[in-house]
Amino acid sequence: MISALQTTPEILGASAMRAKHSQLILSLLWNERGISRADLARRTSLSRSTVSAIVSDLLSTSLVRESHAGASSGGRRPIILEFQDQSSFIVGIELGATHISCVLMDLRCNIQAKWSAPARVRDEPELALQQMTTAVRSVLDEKGLQPSELIGIGVAVPSPVDRERPGELLPLILPKWKGYNIAQHLEVNFERPVFVDNDANLGALAELWWGAGLATKDLAYIKVATGVGAGLIIDGRIFRGSGGIAGEIGHSSIDPDGPLCICGLHGCLTTFIGTPALLERAEEELRASGSVRRPAASIDELVDAALDGDPVSVEMIRYAGDKLGVGIANMLNLLNPKMVVLGGGIARAGDLLLEGVRSTIGGLSLPESIRATLIRTTGLNEWGIAVGAATLMLQAALDQPTLYFSELREAL
Ligand SMILES: [Zn+2]
Repeated sequence: MISALQTTPEILGASAMRAKHSQLILSLLWNERGISRADLARRTSLSRSTVSAIVSDLLSTSLVRESHAGASSGGRRPIILEFQDQSSFIVGIELGATHISCVLMDLRCNIQAKWSAPARVRDEPELALQQMTTAVRSVLDEKGLQPSELIGIGVAVPSPVDRERPGELLPLILPKWKGYNIAQHLEVNFERPVFVDNDANLGALAELWWGAGLATKDLAYIKVATGVGAGLIIDGRIFRGSGGIAGEIGHSSIDPDGPLCICGLHGCLTTFIGTPALLERAEEELRASGSVRRPAASIDELVDAALDGDPVSVEMIRYAGDKLGVGIANMLNLLNPKMVVLGGGIARAGDLLLEGVRSTIGGLSLPESIRATLIRTTGLNEWGIAVGAATLMLQAALDQPTLYFSELREAL
């Protein structure tokens, strides 16, 4: 049950009350997709007259429509109100280390158009920003939409994000991005709100809203790619920590005498299983085995070879699983999440990866935390992180609809 206000009318002014009631009703309409006025009143504990007044405001926007008559519970058949998923749109962008992906979504996060291209994100910030602008224009053009028809843009970045400076990337991880601001760049070009967050956080959000995590409120998503990062969802919300660093599992050291990492520490998880390290090791192992096979040039090729049964590639995926297992074991004892979802290109290896993970954590984590946690690979496709970025914008709009749906602000 969604409870009505915990704040009393004396504390909130009349217009703030109306905004709060609208939020409550619009969220319920989105959740239920179709619901009658009487059920809205029952579920929110608001009076029927309050619900009627708010619904009439909502009906003057394109967000809600009256639909068919529902089932009768004795009297007249009630009219069902329906949330309109295509009343406005959202753009989600994934800025990867080596590619940019962009999706145009409706308000149910159904993909309407998509764009993707390789990009030298780490070394060429200026070009990457131009590519992002091109991507947004391209998906809008494909559907014949104007930027004004967007509620906003969400961006996933391969760096921790400080809530105090959300458009900037951490110079320690991406030194060439010093002085660039992604949010400002897109806001100036499209005049829409822009939200930026870490890619693993947004992978976690996508799992929570649309993927493996639908039935849970506590989960960790680990993205294994060029870098390794975890997104943590606690009680249905992204947990970012005080400076946005929470979940940087890739920079937790699993061997103090290990290789030097870009972050300046030694033996970070990323130095073992980040894509460059893994491919390099695979090549060495291949050479040592005397195989004539060509070394994998990408994580996709390595996974394909492993799924084909190539023994060296299978061994490399198991090795990645073992190392990842050390990081996960520590996290399980610390956070005790209901579910751990593994994403990034290597997740396609499925059970081959999971076997390594499970055998390692068996010896390193408390039996209770292992029993309580489901570990699986992601079911979302390669657009999952971009979808998560759009979801961040959707979540903000459903939390504060009068701020982000301009039609509604005008109607109230
Ligand atoms: Zn590191």
